[in-house]
Amino acid sequence: MPPSLQDEYIKKEILFGAQNYAPLSVVLKKGKGAYLWDVDGNKYLDMVSAYSAVSHGHSHPELVKTIQDQAENLAITSRAFFTEPFGNFLEKLTKVAGFESALTMNTGAEAVETAIKASRRWGYFTKGIEENKAEIIVADGNFHGRTTTIVSFSTDPSYKDGFGPFTPGFESANYCGSCDCESINNCISIESFERKINKNTCAILVEPIQGEAGIRVPKDGWLKELSKLCIEKNILLILDEIQSGLGRTGKLFAYQHEDIVPDGLILGKALGGALLPISAFLGSKDLMKYFNPGSHGSTFGGNPLAAKVATRALELLFEDNLIENSAELGQYFKSKLQSINNEIIKEVRGKGLWIGMELNDSHINAKDLCLMLLNEGLLCKETHKSVIRFAPPLMISKKELDWAIKKITKVIRSI
Ligand SMILES: *Cc1c(COP(=O)(O)O)cnc(C)c1O
Repeated sequence: MPPSLQDEYIKKEILFGAQNYAPLSVVLKKGKGAYLWDVDGNKYLDMVSAYSAVSHGHSHPELVKTIQDQAENLAITSRAFFTEPFGNFLEKLTKVAGFESALTMNTGAEAVETAIKASRRWGYFTKGIEENKAEIIVADGNFHGRTTTIVSFSTDPSYKDGFGPFTPGFESANYCGSCDCESINNCISIESFERKINKNTCAILVEPIQGEAGIRVPKDGWLKELSKLCIEKNILLILDEIQSGLGRTGKLFAYQHEDIVPDGLILGKALGGALLPISAFLGSKDLMKYFNPGSHGSTFGGNPLAAKVATRALELLFEDNLIENSAELGQYFKSKLQSINNEIIKEVRGKGLWIGMELNDSHINAKDLCLMLLNEGLLCKETHKSVIRFAPPLMISKKELDWAIKKITKVIRSI
């Protein structure tokens, strides 16, 4: 066998780059549908989907054609001008999502920052909160991105260490299942949030299912309680669906499992059709009206190239039946994983094609299991020490999934 090319590329990344990630030792060269290939030509099934950004599959032919056509015509203009694709995209996005208005950015973190700004202005200008006093309540275990303001309200020390001073104006409350009454199986207490509310509270910001925390799924009814609380106390409910949205949980949005509507919705990741970054904050006209010229912006936000791709990506979400596929195959996948029934598995949980397998970490840690799965042709990534997240592209077929289940079962039984 010739020496692997992989080492050379890995060395370069380490030599010339910051070590802010700890990737698995595989160097990828090509992606198509649910598959990825490394530089030595080995083929893998993608169970990470770039943290749920690759719902449509890698290099969807329709989207590749869309990006090529648009790139030949008009790609980047800045918002100094109106463009054809941007207006069409705003119309499509707001209609599909059921919100009156949208503001687009590029990365998820920027859309979260947008939501924070919108909430604060609403707090000052509508609710009448005293200047510079607005507070937003978040949940423990949250992940909303990496800006200095966003890490200010993270509860994970590794996200924060050495990055202070932090932005004030945030309080943290218990995410469902992490309160003192955890022993009570169907506790949907929102008391911890209730206690943090005061006259300066403008918003509650949560993920309907916490992704980076290890696919933490709140008990049925919890989000609804939170929504009721927000209505009662005149507080905005802002949901970060950057990872959970656009079909990942088997519904268009994860909050639809709970029959509620938030005041603000944050999208990103899969919105770009697995080709480029685009994110958005959505809300009512009443909330969005506080953004006036000069108050917020982004050079690349809403650029014609991204707008065109995202418009087509939204159409394909329905044309390719990605949401139903996520619901059906997700249910099937979860039940198959649950039936492996092995003592190294503590719990299998999730919704749609977004499943967390928590391990009894006295037996094996999640990273080692990912390495074993890699050798079997499955690309998976751990989140924290003891959870493996399975999030294949939403276009994955039952046959491909069955193959994955066979491999996962084999690896787990071999431990
Ligand atoms: C990924 C993610 C973000 C951050 O998005 P970036 O594009 O990496 O900035 C924010 N919130 C949630 C829930 C996410 O999963």
